[in-house]
Amino acid sequence: MVLSKPDDAPVQKLFDLTGKVVAITGGGRGIGLSVATAYAEAGAKVHPYPDYALVRQISMLISPKTAEELAFKYQTQARAYQADVTKSAEISAVINQIAEDFGKLDVIVANAGICSEHAAEEYSPEEFQEIMEVNVNGAFYTAQAAAKIFKRQGYGNVIFTASVSALLVNTPQRQAAYNASKAGVLQLAKSLAVEWVDFSRVNAVSPGYIQTQIMEYAPHEMLDKWLSQIPARRFASPYELKGVYLFCASDASSYMTGSNLVVDGGFTLP
Ligand code: NDP
Repeated sequence: MVLSKPDDAPVQKLFDLTGKVVAITGGGRGIGLSVATAYAEAGAKVHPYPDYALVRQISMLISPKTAEELAFKYQTQARAYQADVTKSAEISAVINQIAEDFGKLDVIVANAGICSEHAAEEYSPEEFQEIMEVNVNGAFYTAQAAAKIFKRQGYGNVIFTASVSALLVNTPQRQAAYNASKAGVLQLAKSLAVEWVDFSRVNAVSPGYIQTQIMEYAPHEMLDKWLSQIPARRFASPYELKGVYLFCASDASSYMTGSNLVVDGGFTLP
């Protein structure tokens, strides 16, 4: 019974991830790196996957370095693995390897994602497909591979990175593919929460505008427009997501499944 958590515990203990094994796709930078840092600080053994690097032949050096830094700074067993989340067999093999290397897997964060910006009528089938393959298929393959382990173990925790783009259509609008993909991620989270309730919690985090590399494609006029639509009147740093991902991964959220936590400076309110 994955949702039964009868023990009361002091609040610090609820957020403690000591001994937990967590894996994060897209852990090499941006939001994923902040999440990896948060989990390392809370005592978990962390496995960020800056996975795309192997396929794209870039940032290969970043991944092991990231892991090394986390391991050194937080005295944890951070380690980097590589796979392309769009390749089911590849991501599955890596997740199985992690569980084998560390004896179990407690938490998977399906966070890897890409964005693009185009007039909808100009999308090529390949561009549209790439967004879907990374954001939806990749998130599903990641969660599915972890779920097989969680089912065997009798416990687990899946956290998806969705987006406010799953909830509303921002303006000016040239992100139909991204919006559709993130709505897909959110529905996946809700569907899997029900289907896997006997062995895993499943939740989503929906960030608003967070200053990471993924926003670099956006022209200045667009950034200014978005900024004017955020009640908090600023974008967020990825570090401002550490707490919410820690909450999702920890016993502090033991009764929470199928939820979507929106972190957006009020962007979705008006
Ligand atoms: P970044 O571009 O900084 O990070 C994206 C990460 O995803 C990178 O580590 C990248 O790896 C990885 N990745 C991309 N494609 C693949 C692939 N095929 N296989 C494995 N890994 C892959 O962006 P963010 O940190 O901002 O994005 C993280 C998540 O947050 C995404 O899902 C994004 O959609 C979501 N999000 C971001 C928001 C924002 O404003 N920043 C708002 C709402 C949601 P590599 O470095 O090797 O390329």
